[in-house]
Amino acid sequence: MLQWTILKLPEAEQKILDSQGDSMSDLVNPYYDDDRSSQSPESSLIIPETLSKNETKDKRAHSPRTICPTISPIKMEKAEKNVQIDCFVELKEKDIKKPEKKDKNKNVYVNREFVGILSDVTANKEEEEEEEDDEEEDSDSLASELQEISDSTPAQKTNKLKSKLKELENITLNIAVTGMTGAGKSSFVNALRGLHNDDGRAAPTGTIETTMKPNMYPHPFMPNVKIWDLPGIGSPKFRAKKYLKDVKFNTYDFFLIVTSERFKENDIELATAIQKSKKLFYFVRTKIDNDVRAESHKRDFDERKLLDNIREDCKKNLMKVGISKIFLVSSFQLDKYDFQKLIDTLEDELPENKRFALIQSLPIYSQEALMKKKKYFKKIMWLNAFAAGIGALPPLPGLSVACDYGIMKNFFKQVFTSYGLSDEALEVLSARVNKPVEDLKSVMKSRFKDGVTHDVVKDLLSKPVIATAKTLGTVMSLLPFGALPASGAAVASVQYLLNKGLNEMTEDTKKVLAESQLS
Ligand code: GDP
Repeated sequence: MLQWTILKLPEAEQKILDSQGDSMSDLVNPYYDDDRSSQSPESSLIIPETLSKNETKDKRAHSPRTICPTISPIKMEKAEKNVQIDCFVELKEKDIKKPEKKDKNKNVYVNREFVGILSDVTANKEEEEEEEDDEEEDSDSLASELQEISDSTPAQKTNKLKSKLKELENITLNIAVTGMTGAGKSSFVNALRGLHNDDGRAAPTGTIETTMKPNMYPHPFMPNVKIWDLPGIGSPKFRAKKYLKDVKFNTYDFFLIVTSERFKENDIELATAIQKSKKLFYFVRTKIDNDVRAESHKRDFDERKLLDNIREDCKKNLMKVGISKIFLVSSFQLDKYDFQKLIDTLEDELPENKRFALIQSLPIYSQEALMKKKKYFKKIMWLNAFAAGIGALPPLPGLSVACDYGIMKNFFKQVFTSYGLSDEALEVLSARVNKPVEDLKSVMKSRFKDGVTHDVVKDLLSKPVIATAKTLGTVMSLLPFGALPASGAAVASVQYLLNKGLNEMTEDTKKVLAESQLS
């Protein structure tokens, strides 16, 4: 059930505004002008169904309906993308229940800063709307996080949110890659790290394994993500139980069992043992590009048919362990075949925090991979916005937004690193796609093209902020009880800026992808 609550100004603020001859609705709503014919449909006002256009302005201030007006579901749906300039903020029942226990005054108060932002909401709306579709979904998961911290002071809330962010940043992920010697384990380890086999930091490939010890390779830019090249399992004396004990199986979050042919007895024995130890594992058939190349000269060559045949052939053996999911990959072409499906499956099956570390650490190999990263960043963007804005103090001189600058900078740095936009990452990409690094760098046009510097973030913060009412609505509905009223505006402003930065870096990355011919 949805409930609509009017946001009221504190009495003192209201008096000042009234003395200036403006009702609050006039002030915050540029479309209260009766001549709305010039407004585009997108920017039209939501008017409660039972009030006529002319009645609205006057009655809103006096009618008891204004406390909890009814709006038809159809109108609400239509209005979803509209700016809700009349200060109605959608509160979900679950979000308002808890605060109500303590909050005797059910109205949410807004201050002058908040009103100021509301009055600007129509500018830049188009840019925002495109990005707002999944805003509610992204912020939904936050509701419970924020409930957890609702019983503390703003300073405690900020600290709790900061430690939540630190926790997310430091989540470890240990990926084990195993299989027969020569199956392509080391190459797959390198591919997951975004490295070319020739890179100085790459796992050696094409060599005969002499050790029974797992080799750990940290992600080049995220040291908390570790990819392990496990010893080969080809020996006739192979015993899965002993192998798992020797490689300390509990270290790993999941296993990738790779083969470049059919899966053999040892693969199956290993899978069965991993299954018993209640760990996740996935079958990966490597070197698919070789298979495709070998067949492609045939007159009746059909790539899809070939891939289906390979998949079916692999499945025959795996049915013994009740597994039917096999991922066909080429370590040299992650944008092709089933690599994306493998990631989607991991995304479904890993715990949420591990999922985030995985997606963040993956190399950018396609638009789809980029958009997946963006989706996750949009989620933590909200946490960052709340952490940076909730205990907001007055803005520093020269900055338009009251917020924790460090949190914002850190968020941008995370995106920049994960998107592979640093000079170091572009060098790696350049080696992978065989394109001069200067060419890749030259297509980046955003303010972040030379990195996430103090000046760049300061510049972003010094411009007036225009947050949409929908953002403000979401923020207000999520604002934990006891947060300062100004926090709503600060959080919304920070969210707007983080989103802006995220979009700019996404655009740069799209261009880099296109230049690398990976899109
Ligand atoms: P490992 O012994 O299981 O670690 O296998 P390697 O990663 O050392 O790979 C053995 C050989 O297969 C090397 O020459 C690799 O270049 C090659 N190789 C590995 N993966 C692929 C792949 O996906 N496609 C192609 N074409 N060759 C691959």
